[in-house]
Amino acid sequence: MSLFSKKQPELAPSPIEGKVVVLADLDGVVYAGPGAIPHAVESLNAVAEHIRVGYITNNASRTAASVAGHLRELGLSCSDEDIVSSPQAAMHLLAELVEPGSTILVVGGEGLTYELEKNGYVVTFSAEDNPAAVIQGFSPDVGWKQLAEASFALNARPTADAFGGTVTGAGETAGIPWVATNMDWTIPVARGVAPGNGTLVSAVHTAVGRLPVVAGKPELPIFDEAARRFGTAAAPETALFIGDRLDTDVMGGNRAGMKTVLVLTGIDQAKQLLAAPVGSRPDYILNDLRELSEPYPAVITNKDGSVTVRGATVRKDGMNLTIVSRGENKLDLLRAACQVIWDSGLAIFGFTVPEELYI
Ligand SMILES: [Mg+2]
Repeated sequence: MSLFSKKQPELAPSPIEGKVVVLADLDGVVYAGPGAIPHAVESLNAVAEHIRVGYITNNASRTAASVAGHLRELGLSCSDEDIVSSPQAAMHLLAELVEPGSTILVVGGEGLTYELEKNGYVVTFSAEDNPAAVIQGFSPDVGWKQLAEASFALNARPTADAFGGTVTGAGETAGIPWVATNMDWTIPVARGVAPGNGTLVSAVHTAVGRLPVVAGKPELPIFDEAARRFGTAAAPETALFIGDRLDTDVMGGNRAGMKTVLVLTGIDQAKQLLAAPVGSRPDYILNDLRELSEPYPAVITNKDGSVTVRGATVRKDGMNLTIVSRGENKLDLLRAACQVIWDSGLAIFGFTVPEELYI
């Protein structure tokens, strides 16, 4: 390369540079099953020495204090206030829908009852108590009886009939308000993948013919809760959100105006990244959380439309994706390929993509 070329710098600032708060999803980012993900704890503790670090979780079965206790056991330096949970976000939704001190029917466990009582609501598990709203979040103890009580309470007015009446959209109040902490279809547990809150909400939905308003990722209330807590509401781009799923973490963070990281230690991998729809594309792709504090490679679009990330260059030839140079780093090649596809404005299924980009 000539001394006088106008070559752009290969490295840009690190993902955390200029950020006021770094927010992390838990499963697939901090831990997987019982153990911490390699490098996650040390990397987040290092960030926390100079930037506020918070954690965002859709799981409603545990209290924020219990989640914080678990994270401290894994070695993270965090306080109870660093945890933003879907039940906490659901409390803000509820406050807009019912009078303070109302009786609320719960489908869920301690994570929900704790927040409800803390916020001055009366908890019931029976539709007979004439609740002002239903709130639903995951707990391993939820069974048919709780789902049935929710259905009775939500069906209390005759307009909400699953098979004969009008099906109304989320937030419409054909009956009493219904708030769900999150709509994750599945939940990973020690023995495998099990039905999540979205699946249990869906059972009630089938019975009552309407949908709840939702607090958790990828909806905004949980991100709004984080922005209030960490003071980034006026400048959301000063928050960095790290997740392992494009359809909840990255989509939600992007919607909230935050900068987003997809870390490849959890659910979504190269294939999903290459196919990511507009709105679910992260600002940064990382192998693990050590890279949070390292300079991020510049993603450079060349005059011919090819994209270079350090030594890796990828070009679009018609509907073929061509590797021009591999560089030294497989992740750089993926970053370049993603940018070529994303810039094209075309859907992934039209492309012929070399297998080595996503295997
Ligand atoms: Mg996750």
